[in-house]
Amino acid sequence: MSWSKYRRAVEGQVPVFPVSDAYESGVVPIRFSGWPLPRQIPAYPALDHDIEADIVVVGAGLVGSSLALRLAENGVRVVVLEADQPGSGASGRNAGHVQPYLASFAPLQAHADQGRRFTEYFIEHRDVVFDLCRKHGLEADAVKSGMVDAACRRHVALENKVKQWKAFGYDVDLVGAERLKELLGTSAYSHGVHWREGGRVNPYLFTNGMIAAAVRLGARVYGNSAVLSCERRAAYWRVRTATGSVHAQQVVLCTNGHAGNPFFPELTRTQFPLVACGMATRPLPQEVLEIVNPARVTLMQYPAGLYPLIIDGRNRLITATIPGAGRAQRAADHFAYFLRYLRRTYPQLRDTPIEMESYWTGMTANSSSVYDASYPKLYRAAEGVLALMNFGSWGNVMGPMLGVNLADALASDRLQDCLLPLETPKAVQCPGLFETKIRRVLIPAARWADRFNLV
Ligand SMILES: Cc1cc2nc3c(=O)[nH]c(=O)nc-3n(C[C@H](O)[C@H](O)[C@H](O)COP(=O)(O)OP(=O)(O)OC[C@H]3O[C@@H](n4cnc5c(N)ncnc54)[C@H](O)[C@@H]3O)c2cc1C
Repeated sequence: MSWSKYRRAVEGQVPVFPVSDAYESGVVPIRFSGWPLPRQIPAYPALDHDIEADIVVVGAGLVGSSLALRLAENGVRVVVLEADQPGSGASGRNAGHVQPYLASFAPLQAHADQGRRFTEYFIEHRDVVFDLCRKHGLEADAVKSGMVDAACRRHVALENKVKQWKAFGYDVDLVGAERLKELLGTSAYSHGVHWREGGRVNPYLFTNGMIAAAVRLGARVYGNSAVLSCERRAAYWRVRTATGSVHAQQVVLCTNGHAGNPFFPELTRTQFPLVACGMATRPLPQEVLEIVNPARVTLMQYPAGLYPLIIDGRNRLITATIPGAGRAQRAADHFAYFLRYLRRTYPQLRDTPIEMESYWTGMTANSSSVYDASYPKLYRAAEGVLALMNFGSWGNVMGPMLGVNLADALASDRLQDCLLPLETPKAVQCPGLFETKIRRVLIPAARWADRFNLV
């Protein structure tokens, strides 16, 4: 189900959709997500008149919010139009990992300089999440707690990764069973990588924090304001919602997957959509907290990464995974798989009750059918209309980093300073195949291998 159909269903304009559809499409209401819990976030009102701006940003996820914040800092008159409320898309539904390294360099080869500038900027700005939180006083449970890739056997790829990122100046080491036991509290892993960088963030609070900071700096933000059309008027664009419009020279679309949007529909065909699900436990009792992940690092299992794990500021375990085909709504099954992994990794917890607090799904938009090679894209949809989208599973660092970079380029009228090449939207081949491959083949195989300790 698309965003527009979801919106119309919520507004009572189409029959209520089956629950399974909402889970499969990653559009269950954001209150189902484990992240918006701690406090009430103010709702932004709908746009109800015609206004003018220098730049209109469509979509208030990590990308649109960081872009709007930086534009406002640069003194640009910016208006944000969000179909729901800030952080209601993938950004309020993710796993909270702040990954400070690049999963693959291969796509960078397509850049004119083979990605040299991109890599240098990424390395320099890898702390963007923590830096933005500090600079703008955002309370988003952002903790630079480090990360661990944990494996059950030796992998040359991990060794190469450490060499490569050490050469870039990273504080990272290969670690063995003993150190992994100290960090993670389990003897399940014998080989690993300890990144003393990166960590975790509450992505919903982070997104909303950036939007609130943008408002403090003069940005105008409208919620419940789905953009319905973008019409060209001489050198300007008229961006229309159901009850108002914005007149501006520049439009930037930050709609992630763009599915269901009638304007610039060619953008919808630029990605491989993949649904993912997230789960949070209730706050853990002290005896469990002493056993699981005592170093509070962000944990990623290598190579499959079936249950990336953090313990958040409310002492909850939070994980995300890819549901099997047609099974996105089966919360109890996915939580049971997760508990099976957890109890095998921490056998002391065999008889300890651990309850699920939240289960939700969200949609990722991937630019490549190779998981690690999925990089964000910057498209020129028309003269004066850019689209920064397709962040796949790497939006927490990449989103704000590229949002800030694009804002600086727009504010100084130097699009050539953008880190991403400006591309024309191009349809990908067989967009559904990626999801089929992952959900029908790779995930069931990985769960099977995990269950029988074959990884
Ligand atoms: C379950 C899950 C786990 C993940 N885990 C991680 C992780 O641990 N680390 C990490 O780095 N990344 C992770 N990701 C990926 C990350 O969440 C995304 O890459 C990122 O949120 C994308 O941000 P965005 O701003 O492009 O999109 P979104 O957050 O989806 O924002 C797009 C916004 O556009 C709005 N919109 C759409 N159409 C319109 C319209 N017509 N008018 C107005 N507004 C519109 C939507 O309502 C939405 O709010 C995960 C994703 C999921 C789903």
